[in-house]
Amino acid sequence: RENERESMFIVNEWAAKYFQDILQNDVDGRAIGMQYFRSRGFRDDIIRKFQLGFALNQRTALFDEAVKKGYQPKYLVDTGLCFKVDKEEAGNKSGQDKYLDRFSGRAIFPWLSVSGKVVAFGGRVLDTRTKGVSQKYVNSPDSIIYHKERELYGLYQAKKAIAKEDCVYMVEGYTDVISMHQCGIENVVANSGTALSIHQIRLLHRFTSNIVLLYDGDAAGVHAALRGTDMLLEEEMNVKVLFLPDGNDPDSFARSHTAADFRKYIEENQKDFIQFKTDLSLNGVTDPVKRSQAINSIVESISKIKNQITRASYITDCAHRLGVNEAIIVNALNNFVRNGM
Ligand code: ATP
Ligand code: MN
Ligand code: MN
Ligand code: MN
Repeated sequence: RENERESMFIVNEWAAKYFQDILQNDVDGRAIGMQYFRSRGFRDDIIRKFQLGFALNQRTALFDEAVKKGYQPKYLVDTGLCFKVDKEEAGNKSGQDKYLDRFSGRAIFPWLSVSGKVVAFGGRVLDTRTKGVSQKYVNSPDSIIYHKERELYGLYQAKKAIAKEDCVYMVEGYTDVISMHQCGIENVVANSGTALSIHQIRLLHRFTSNIVLLYDGDAAGVHAALRGTDMLLEEEMNVKVLFLPDGNDPDSFARSHTAADFRKYIEENQKDFIQFKTDLSLNGVTDPVKRSQAINSIVESISKIKNQITRASYITDCAHRLGVNEAIIVNALNNFVRNGM
């Protein structure tokens, strides 16, 4: 089993180099892949830092090259770089197994583990209008070396800065991480379109207790922030939330602002969970039932905080900001605690 993991790392390491080599040196790789990254404004140093690559638009380019180099199909399948197709489906009468590349024609974003090993790949279609391509991003499937919910994209490149700044920015996507680095903000990671997990929070907690959620301002982003906030409070993290101005994601914002301006924007606009939830469902709401529901939801968040002193200070703060008697907050809180929620 340990051997198997080791073989998978070796194959992934080779594949990452192969994709990079195509991007940097192959005629098509340069004309198509490099052209794509350039069109997104990515600099050379950043492309290398994130080991970005390109997969040729041929269905077995990687497979053929790997086999030529002596890598076993088993590990190409286990890592998810290739997948086996049905013999019949492949119209293969010789009875030989047929394999296809997973990432053909895509820009490649390798996922590194916290210690820098290549555990998986993300691949983006270059043109989202391409016919027959249903998914903008494709990811390696989970495997014995890759558990998506235990990894964070960019952590390897960010961990020093996270510790130094004693803060981490959590964004949604690969390109958000990369553009922020390019703009000079390096304490940033992405959970890449999945819900934040307890494992990811604990992984981050090794480097800092302070986190700012920088999610897209759409319904999905708001929902993710609501859910993430409570989990982070439960893990005794200090959480702030920030949605960028309409139509922006951290990628576009980083490309149109300096690091200093971006940092200043975050400083001035980040909200703690009370402010976030208040603005979301309490401000301007007069209906007493809706108000009470909103207050209860804030109290529920407070009930997740284990540290008594932090909790007490949030109670006082909350009562003050909502203009509610502190005893009412405490009472509501006791209901949550009693119900074991
Ligand atoms: P881009 O700027 O390249 O269009 P994005 O990062 O802004 O991409 P979003 O649509 O905001 O893309 O998605 C956020 C993240 O969620 C992506 O970076 C990717 O990691 C993940 N993701 C999005 N769509 C998919 C998908 N179909 N399958 C797997 N992961 C996905
Ligand atoms: Mn989005
Ligand atoms: Mn986005
Ligand atoms: Mn984007």
